[in-house]
Amino acid sequence: MRAALLSIGDELLLGEKPETNSAAIAQLLLQHGIDTTQRQCVGDDRRAIHAALAALAAEAELVVATGGLGPTADDLTREALGDLISPGESLEIDTASAAAITARFAARGRVLQEVELRQARCPRGSRCLSNGVGVAPGIAARHGKTQIICLPGPPNEALPMLAAELSSLTHERGEQTSPSTIRCGIVQSCGLGETESARRLGELMRRDANPHVGTTASGAMVQARIRWRGQQATPEAIGSLQERIMALWHPWSYSPGDDPLSAVVGQMLRRRGESLAVAESCTGGLLGGECTHIPGSSDWFRGGVIAYSNQVKVDMLGVDPMSLLQHGAVSAQTARAMALGALSRFSADWAIAITGVAGPGGGTAEKPSGTVLVSVAGRAQVGTTRRFLIPGTRSGIRERSVRLALQALRFELLGCADQPLLHQVAHSVQSGERSAK
Ligand code: ATP
Ligand code: MG
Repeated sequence: MRAALLSIGDELLLGEKPETNSAAIAQLLLQHGIDTTQRQCVGDDRRAIHAALAALAAEAELVVATGGLGPTADDLTREALGDLISPGESLEIDTASAAAITARFAARGRVLQEVELRQARCPRGSRCLSNGVGVAPGIAARHGKTQIICLPGPPNEALPMLAAELSSLTHERGEQTSPSTIRCGIVQSCGLGETESARRLGELMRRDANPHVGTTASGAMVQARIRWRGQQATPEAIGSLQERIMALWHPWSYSPGDDPLSAVVGQMLRRRGESLAVAESCTGGLLGGECTHIPGSSDWFRGGVIAYSNQVKVDMLGVDPMSLLQHGAVSAQTARAMALGALSRFSADWAIAITGVAGPGGGTAEKPSGTVLVSVAGRAQVGTTRRFLIPGTRSGIRERSVRLALQALRFELLGCADQPLLHQVAHSVQSGERSAK
């Protein structure tokens, strides 16, 4: 089944408000095995809405439109739909919708303005869809082979209404996958270059392959996006392809889904009954923020220090001032000392320290902007310190530092701390045995 999406509203057309419904709807349709083949946006103009509905209905078996179903004079979707499916006839009042609107106002002690009941009107031959969140009902209609679904504009109303309608639609069609079914899945990785990620996927990335795998890279992460059409695209088949990509990208792959890296690391720590503390200089708390963003992180995250100034590195983390003077704040020695300081002061099992030059200024020939040191320390003297040279803007460098630092800890937990990470230029591993020598 092919779907076409229409978003309606002057504010969307002119860019005064970001148009978010189509993206969310396309994703929701995909979860139901429905492929979106086009999207369109028109203003609050009856003729334009009518023309767009007609054109999209000619191309797709499902048209989902959002917006223009409210009570005001610029809400014209009902009339435009009527122009398409029952031209020349006036709209009819749907008694159930009128009753629901009246009851809703009564329940809130609000006076019902006559104009509100405009929302209960719909073209002959169409069906009203109840709105569990707001006032305006949606409308479903058939035009030739095409199912048209018109939904109110607010995303928090449109999406649940569509989800409810899709469940009954899929139920009608039967649960089995058809030749036109499309299913998707993702795999996420961090710290493996995009070219190497693609090389490892090989034939899977051929444009005409089915399943087809595409990659998108951003901020030290590469995502594999699987799209699989046809009857073989069962959820199980998608699952085993995700596992295959996880293996091809091992150990850089961290989730066959949309889990954040911090949640994956947190889950590993929780299983081991271990805890984490952080010491951050150039990331100024972003790493702690990323960890505490995860619900339930108090199970494994102890806390941290934003050691932005040298004095704080000395006072709060016990970094040796002589060593700071000798090696500088942005050095492997300082990073390691910060990590060990956090480890003992927070009585944690693991600590991550980040220190670097986020730029744009402040770099030197020896330590240019983007030089970042990440040290991971664990009990029993284990750990790694990595030096990175990260390209990009200040915010990009800080964001990548956080992700690479989390991946460095994950590698440590997996026992593969010797594996390199993207942008890494130097690496030292401290193992318990070695430091005991
Ligand atoms: P209402 O009863 O709320 O008036 P409506 O169906 O008439 O519903 P609109 O008036 O078109 O919807 O839009 C209502 C709100 O939803 C506006 O704030 C609008 O900007 C927002 N909205 C509409 N369509 C979209 C969209 N495609 N993406 C994001 N926001 C949208
Ligand atoms: Mg409106």
